[in-house]
Amino acid sequence: MQVPFYRHGLDAGYAEMIGSVLDSPILTSGQVGREVEARLCSFFEVPHAKLTNSWTNGAVATLLALDIGPGCDVIVPAMSFVATANVVELVGARPVFADVDPATLLVTPEAVASVVTPRTRAVIPVHLYGQMVDIGALRAVLRPGIAIIEDAAHCFEGTLRGERPGAQSDAAIFSFYATKNITCGEGGAIVTRDAALAARLQHTVLHGMSAGAADRFKAGRYRHWDMERLGTKANLTDLLAALLPAQIDGVYARLAERERLVGRYRAALRDHPAVRLPAELPGMRSAQHLFPIHLAGSERDRVLAALNEGGVGATVNYTAIPATKYYRNKYGLAPGLFPVAETWGEGTLSLPLFPGLRDDEQDHVIATLLEGVIPAKAQEGRLTA
Ligand SMILES: *Cc1c(COP(=O)(O)O)cnc(C)c1O
Repeated sequence: MQVPFYRHGLDAGYAEMIGSVLDSPILTSGQVGREVEARLCSFFEVPHAKLTNSWTNGAVATLLALDIGPGCDVIVPAMSFVATANVVELVGARPVFADVDPATLLVTPEAVASVVTPRTRAVIPVHLYGQMVDIGALRAVLRPGIAIIEDAAHCFEGTLRGERPGAQSDAAIFSFYATKNITCGEGGAIVTRDAALAARLQHTVLHGMSAGAADRFKAGRYRHWDMERLGTKANLTDLLAALLPAQIDGVYARLAERERLVGRYRAALRDHPAVRLPAELPGMRSAQHLFPIHLAGSERDRVLAALNEGGVGATVNYTAIPATKYYRNKYGLAPGLFPVAETWGEGTLSLPLFPGLRDDEQDHVIATLLEGVIPAKAQEGRLTA
């Protein structure tokens, strides 16, 4: 049996949504996107939302809008996807890594506070795997003026004590990449409560231009535009924005299915002595984006290969960012500086998790995994032999 890591649920109905945009004159950002942005504002209860063509470009546009660049430090967790740190590099600022909590793998306010310097301009907490960093607690350890930009790529629908991403930060950024809980292939969004930041974002998502295509030709008349600050190209085409509303409508039905599947995985693996699972926090409704496990010792790559050979599309989320060649070399980061992220990164693998994963497919994943994992007793025997 072949079980893919991810199977999207976008059926033929979505072709019609793209088709209706093809019938309109504007194939870039226009009315469809503006309606989705209004949807995002009501979903997240924030006054401003901007669709982007990726999380990455949205984050670059946000950093540009906050005038973060050379000479600035931005704190990022050592355990995340590389994009979280890359966007800081791309604007010429310096990423400063903070280690994560051993139970949850989330960055903690204490770890962030311990690496704040006078050059710190922003923090990018990551809602890793779908559980949220406590933004209120993070704010409490930061001096005023340090921006909090939530990496909510894993957490569109999650909540902490009933609060969504964007409720307390300067901005929260989402990804609609192909494997994310809501997807249009490539895409993203920024939400913010800050009107001044939202106004600057209008420019930094579009080359720094003062008017977008739809506005430049409003009412059939050309309008001059100027460029006041540097921007990137981060706007989302209406062709892709059209795929989002139906998924936002169904997001809690799909989350319930993710939760059911996570419950089955947890029941099967919870008591296994060689498998460690991230702790679930009280007050949290996780978006259940990924199902990572951790294998002790140096078993990961062998088990990953066994899963792949058994037809299971397992992957790794993630190697610690400071352990990647680029960051290791550029910043001279020695192994052992971020012990929790490094240890997790060396032992973790992610199992398939998506609405539509059938029970027989999930049973195959679990059986293949358990066959591959050497029982703890045998491992002890090997270590002492
Ligand atoms: C997917 C992801 C990103 C990047 O998103 P893109 O839309 O592909 O740019 C950033 N951070 C995290 C944690 C991610 O998983």
